[in-house]
Amino acid sequence: MNVTNPARCSEVVGQVPLCSEADVEQVIEAAHAAFKTWSRTTAEDRASRLSEAARSLRSALPELTTLFVRENGKPLREAERDIQRSIELMEIIAADLPEWSRPALFDKHQPVWARKRPRGVTAVISPWNSPVLLSFKRLVPAIATGNTVVVKPASYCPLSMMECARIITPHFPAGVLNVVTGHGSVVGETLAKDERVRAIAFTGSTETGRRILELAAGSVKKVFMELGGNDPALVLADAVLDEQAVNRMTNSILRASGQVCIAIKRIYVHESRIQELVEKLDRSFDRIVVGDGLMPETTMGPLNNKSQFDFVTGLIEQCRRKGLTVTAGGQKLAPETWDQGLFVLPSIVLGAGDQDDIVRCEQFGPLVPILPFQEEHEAIARANDSEYGLRASVWTARTERALELADRLEAGAVFHNNHGIFQDLHIEFPGIKQSGLSRESRWGALDHYADIYGFAG
Ligand code: NAD
Repeated sequence: MNVTNPARCSEVVGQVPLCSEADVEQVIEAAHAAFKTWSRTTAEDRASRLSEAARSLRSALPELTTLFVRENGKPLREAERDIQRSIELMEIIAADLPEWSRPALFDKHQPVWARKRPRGVTAVISPWNSPVLLSFKRLVPAIATGNTVVVKPASYCPLSMMECARIITPHFPAGVLNVVTGHGSVVGETLAKDERVRAIAFTGSTETGRRILELAAGSVKKVFMELGGNDPALVLADAVLDEQAVNRMTNSILRASGQVCIAIKRIYVHESRIQELVEKLDRSFDRIVVGDGLMPETTMGPLNNKSQFDFVTGLIEQCRRKGLTVTAGGQKLAPETWDQGLFVLPSIVLGAGDQDDIVRCEQFGPLVPILPFQEEHEAIARANDSEYGLRASVWTARTERALELADRLEAGAVFHNNHGIFQDLHIEFPGIKQSGLSRESRWGALDHYADIYGFAG
C-alpha cells in the first residue's frame, strides 16, 4: 500500500504491507508466545529497557519528525512535539513502574494484598491524526506492565510509528512489540476477534469503536476506548478576549488543521460579545500560514487524506449552499502549488442552526461555527445536546462561575479560558457518553493494562 504526502499528493513517501488475516494471526501467535517469559520479568528490568528505548528514540528525533510531517502533513513544530511527548511518556512510566508495581495492603479485618499481574496480548489500534503519540500512550503502559503488544497504525499514516517500532524493538525480546499494517476491516477486526488478544486499546471514531466493542464482546476482552468528539466552548458575557486568549482559542481550533479529537468544534458566545469575538478570531485566522508542514514558515498544514479533504470541503460547500456565511482566512504559502496538496483555508461559519451538520457532526477540519446565546442555562443545554462528551471549555473572568458551569457540562474534562491538553503526561481524563469508556488516573494508564487480584492472608 502506498503512503502519500498530503502536501504533494503525487509523492509516495513509502509503502507498507497489506496484511491478511493469516498474517495477523501469525503475529498474534508470536506475541502470545513471548508473553510467557515477558510477563515474568521484573518491573526494574522492564523500566530499564524502556529508558534505553527512549534514549534510542531521542537520538533519531530529527529524522522521525521529518518522516512524520511527510506522511501526516502537520507542521514540523507540532510533529516534533508529538514524538517528544512519546519519548517523555516512556521516561515517566519507566520512573513510575517500580513504585506502581508494589502490592498494596488493606488490613482492616484481615490482611488483603492487592497485587498486579499482566493480562496477555494487547492490541493497540490508532488513528491517523497523531499516530505515534496515540499508539505510545497505549503501548508503553501495556509493555511496561508485562503485556506483549500488537500495534495496528492507521492506514493513511503508518510509517513513523513503524520507524519508531524499528528503533525500539531491539530493546525488548522478540515478540514483545509487533506492528501489523493494512485495512482496519481486515487487520483491526482480526485483532478484535481473536481469543488470544486479552485487551484492546482503541483510539479512533465512535463508529469504529462500536464495531470493535461488538467484536470484542465475543471473548469478553478488556476494552479501552478513546473516541470522537464535538467539543463546545462557551464564551460568557464577561469573557476576557485579549490577544493571549484569542491565540489560545485559535490554537485549540486549528492545531493539526483541526484534526484533533479535543479541538474546539463549536463556539457558543453571549450575543453581546459575538461581533467582537468574530472580528478578533478573523484577524487571528488571517495570520495563519497554510502550506507544506516541512517549510518553517508554515503554521498550518494540509488535511491528512483525500477522504477527510472531501468531507471537509463538502461541509463548507453545504454551508455556502444553505446561505451561511463562511469566511476564508489565512495565507497561502505557495499559491502556485496549492492544488497539488490537500489544503483548506481556516474558516469561521456564521448563521448556522443547532441542527445543521456543521454543528452536529465532528468536522475534523479547520473551520468552526460560532453560535450566539442569550442565557447561560440555554448555552449549557445546547452544548450538552450531543452524543459526544470529550472536552469543553468556559471562557469567563470568574473562576467560580467556570466551575459551576463545568459541573453541568457533560465532558470528560473542562478547561477554564483554555481548551487544551494536560501538560502533565500522568494526567488523563478521557471522554464520557459516546466519546469513550475508560478512566485513567494518577498512574496514567498503568492500572488499565494489569489485572489487579487479591491475596488474602
Ligand atoms: P477510524 O475509526 O476510521 O480509524 C481508527 C483506526 O481503526 C485505524 O487504524 C483504522 O484502520 C482502524 N479501523 C477501521 N475500521 C476498523 C474495523 N472495522 N475494525 C477494527 N479497526 C478498524 O478513525 P480515524 O479516521 O483514523 O481517526 C479520526 C477519529 O479518531 C475522529 O473521530 C477522532 O475524534 C478520533 N480520535 C479520538 C481521540 C481520543 O483521544 N478520543 C484521539 C484521536 C482521534
